[in-house]
Amino acid sequence: MAAAAKRALELTCFGVGEGWPCSDRRHSSFLYSIGGAHILVDAGEGLSSAYKASGRSYEQVDRVLLSHLHSDHVGSLSMWFQGLWLEGRRRPLAVSAPAGGIDPIRNWLEATLLFPDLIRFPVSWEAIDPRQPVQCGDVRIQAFPTTHLESLRRSFQARNPRGVFDCFSFVFEHEGLRVGHSSDIGDVNDLEPLLQAPLDLLVCELSHVSPAELFLKLRGRPIGRLVLVHLSRELWAGRTALKSQARRALGSAIPVSVAGDGDVFRI
Ligand SMILES: [Zn+2]
Repeated sequence: MAAAAKRALELTCFGVGEGWPCSDRRHSSFLYSIGGAHILVDAGEGLSSAYKASGRSYEQVDRVLLSHLHSDHVGSLSMWFQGLWLEGRRRPLAVSAPAGGIDPIRNWLEATLLFPDLIRFPVSWEAIDPRQPVQCGDVRIQAFPTTHLESLRRSFQARNPRGVFDCFSFVFEHEGLRVGHSSDIGDVNDLEPLLQAPLDLLVCELSHVSPAELFLKLRGRPIGRLVLVHLSRELWAGRTALKSQARRALGSAIPVSVAGDGDVFRI
């Protein structure tokens, strides 16, 4: 029994919205609780209020992973940090982000008056390196680059060198459990590294690729459960039809859910 409990996974969706302004969804933020470790992926707008509403301790999160610097993924970071300070966090916190984003984020936090010697919990800032998996408790976290920002990089980087054009997906592994989180992708082939071994859970965005392309890519793959997030407005409005399309395309082999804010998935 103890081993089963330790292996357990709980995913809390604080925000499932996309990059366009959403009136009915918060922006991207997900908490993975795996084997006693608590990993927050992204900090989109709405995280602070969703976190408070969840009743969780402000000591709980062990590590934050910021997939990339679009505001729908980092827009609530400073308010959430302000909450950690005001609610009295003392435990160290690790934050992983694209290398070029760390100094700007730290400057942003300082500009918002969240000085290291004020907030009184130590923060270790770590550049995401796909060649070096990191451990969070007993969970191994592997990052993979996605092509989400590559066309922007080609068009804008030369004239805007301060832009941070890296974006990463993640795989979490713990005692045989394997979970993929797509973050934002530019092409369904960005999912290939996540699909190299069976997944107990795949959390996949659906605003930068079409459902038909995605389901074709996933059909027949060993995926225990598919949770769709980050839907474009049009897909969100038609999510009942989307679920039917997924069922037709994937059959019963891969159970599919369309996540809403506040949804919790347990495996
Ligand atoms: Zn996004």
